[in-house]
Amino acid sequence: MYRLFAPVPPPATFVACSGCDVCALSCPVWQQTHDLRLTPKGRALALQGGAAATEIVESLAACVMCGSCVPACPEQIDLVSMTLSLRADLAAAGVSPLSPLAASFAPPGEHSSPANVHLKTVLLAEDRLLASPSLLAAATLRLGGPAHVVVAADSGRDVSARMEAGLTVPQARLERFLDGLRGALRVVTTEGFISRFVRKWLPGTPVRTLGEACLALPETRRALRPTDLYVVEARGYNADRERLVAVYDALRHETGCDISLDLQRLAIPTAAKALNTRLGIGPVKSAEQVRWILEGRHPRRIVVENLEDGEAFRRERGVEVVHVATLGA
Ligand code: SF4
Ligand code: SF4
Repeated sequence: MYRLFAPVPPPATFVACSGCDVCALSCPVWQQTHDLRLTPKGRALALQGGAAATEIVESLAACVMCGSCVPACPEQIDLVSMTLSLRADLAAAGVSPLSPLAASFAPPGEHSSPANVHLKTVLLAEDRLLASPSLLAAATLRLGGPAHVVVAADSGRDVSARMEAGLTVPQARLERFLDGLRGALRVVTTEGFISRFVRKWLPGTPVRTLGEACLALPETRRALRPTDLYVVEARGYNADRERLVAVYDALRHETGCDISLDLQRLAIPTAAKALNTRLGIGPVKSAEQVRWILEGRHPRRIVVENLEDGEAFRRERGVEVVHVATLGA
């Protein structure tokens, strides 16, 4: 029997690209430019033709690392890894437009006594969450309360930024970051880019998004309404889409709320967190992403898992925006 998503033996590289275009359907860069050279297909075919990373700088800088092309690709090419590896070539050649910003994120200072995370939930909180004591307290409560939760003093923000730009992360720095997570019952992230790597670095430790952790609580789900639009943190979702698709389908079924997924059940990003968006370079504009997510939708309230996504919606729409950790409080 013919299967569209028939598995191929890993690792599948750019060589396996058939040029089918499926990755473009969900790619924000394609949505906003209709320029195939800037898509994963464009990069894969350029590599097949013998191009080097330095010949496709614009394409490499355009990607917002949302990860939706990875589960979409029928050839199962890890397109995020492909792009990151090419970005590493740019960084090594000294021509990466993202490197200066990524290198500007300083690692946190040494902590004399690292927190005991044994059998606890470690929360890797985004800066905006750390800056809001009431929201941080609400998130901590949702995750089991202060006795069971450690808010990481080292969120790995610099590690994440360096990886997104293709810069190397010094081994000692990576070990210091991971030492703060080893032994944890689970790691909960608010920014999904780093979650795909933490999952690989710490096999056996469950890595979840804050949204999924909150939605596991009946009181959170009860507070969702059919007139809500629930905005998934796209990078975290797409990196774990095979498992999460059932979770969010069940949520939609149970509550009637709409969810920021496309017809392939891929999360559409606001792209607010991407390094190139922060730098104001690249073709993807958050305002356009917000318009795409809201196309044909008229929510009375928007529920977000990530505060930067919330700000992108607030800028564009005069509709109530709330964080998932505050639901059912
Ligand atoms: S990660 Fe997102 S922006 Fe980058 S190529 Fe894939 S779909 Fe496009
Ligand atoms: S979905 Fe995969 S095989 Fe198809 S064009 Fe994109 S990268 Fe190539």
